[in-house]
Amino acid sequence: MSERNMESETAEAGRGTDYDMVVVGAGPAGATFARLAARRYRVLLVDRRTEGVKCCGGLVAPDAQAQLARFDIGIPKRVVADPQLFYVRSVDLETGRERRYQRHYTNVDRGAFDAYLLELLPRGVDFRSGARYLGHREADRGLVVEIEGKGGVEEISCGVLVGADGAFSRVRSKALGDFASIRKYLAVQGEFVRLDPVRHYAVFFDRTLTDFYSWLIPKDDALILGGAFRGEEDARGKFERLVEAVGRKGYRLGARTKIDACFVLRPRLRDIRIGEGKVALIGEAAGFISPSSAEGLSYAYASAVALARALERPDAAWLARYRRGTARLRLNILGKNLKGIVMYNRFLRNLVFMSGIGSLGGGGTRRSAEGYPAKDSGGARNEDDDAGSRAG
Ligand SMILES: Cc1cc2nc3c(=O)[nH]c(=O)nc-3n(C[C@H](O)[C@H](O)[C@H](O)COP(=O)(O)OP(=O)(O)OC[C@H]3O[C@@H](n4cnc5c(N)ncnc54)[C@H](O)[C@@H]3O)c2cc1C
Repeated sequence: MSERNMESETAEAGRGTDYDMVVVGAGPAGATFARLAARRYRVLLVDRRTEGVKCCGGLVAPDAQAQLARFDIGIPKRVVADPQLFYVRSVDLETGRERRYQRHYTNVDRGAFDAYLLELLPRGVDFRSGARYLGHREADRGLVVEIEGKGGVEEISCGVLVGADGAFSRVRSKALGDFASIRKYLAVQGEFVRLDPVRHYAVFFDRTLTDFYSWLIPKDDALILGGAFRGEEDARGKFERLVEAVGRKGYRLGARTKIDACFVLRPRLRDIRIGEGKVALIGEAAGFISPSSAEGLSYAYASAVALARALERPDAAWLARYRRGTARLRLNILGKNLKGIVMYNRFLRNLVFMSGIGSLGGGGTRRSAEGYPAKDSGGARNEDDDAGSRAG
């Protein structure tokens, strides 16, 4: 136990334990929290993964960029994917209406990005990959956490357990047992060989497939196409229909090189839980993710910061402070749910499309504009055109 927190109740709970904190999940939330918490505490960070990448679009949105700026973290070239994206083409597949909106995303290789965040961990963090959290129990002092690694199952004692294990959080299930009631979708995402240059991020709406949305993202030599489908039933069948619909919109997809599926939460206010007792939840495990866009990186960072701040003073009130520190995030998620009512209502969305509010102009209504794939055109065949200058 570090000396700084000897007198506190948290320290009391953690005194004589192996670690002050065990963090489960080394994604953006867990890696960020571990980095910040290691300034004060002995931290063990575990992740079940040894290789493989989180199923993700890998777009770092402006809110996430702002968080990285606060950490003074830049994104190195080796993590960046090609091309950088400045607009989103928003298409209603049912009505054929579409608009383009200016958005500034940093397009990254998610696997490389996660690995980069782990490189920033200070030496004070013990990081174990290939180490799976199985469960935990209360002990005289703190908690005992069961971790399964290469050498079998190990019991590790700690003062605080942090669940940063994503949408399908086992820590949350064990601590709160509410997974069944959380609003969630099954995301199916495929990677295809990119046959034509695509210079934008595209999103698709089609109520016959999902009441959420689907996305297409160019990533180096690949095109990523994904959709979030409610209920696990026939998600794969809906994905195949999405592939066909996107093809009809002019995107030529080459051979499929990969397909992944994972849960993504679409939280209502009541789905957000920050923890209980000596267990804290951050990132998507807590339900911190945008219910309108599934943007999750900024929420992962913000909740990690809020928890690290709450634990700066290691007394018994840290969970109450964490609750207060995440009030704005909850308000934000409430706002995104309201925004979602407009975005995901076909009538309202098409009104917005027709009005052109906030759009780049051109490409409204049912016509395809120059500068992005024309319907039935066989893809972005106008690749050598100066799309940017003509599209506006
Ligand atoms: C298909 C898809 C596309 C998305 N695209 C974007 C996007 O473009 N931009 C964006 O901002 N957000 C996107 N999101 C959301 C974003 O990926 C998540 O919100 C974000 O990754 C959450 O970060 P996290 O650290 O909370 O959890 P995660 O990134 O999910 O990390 C959880 C970690 O916990 C580990 N873990 C899980 N269980 C255990 C266990 N039992 N023991 C040990 N380790 C465990 C996992 O291996 C993983 O490394 C997307 C989500 C999906 C599903």
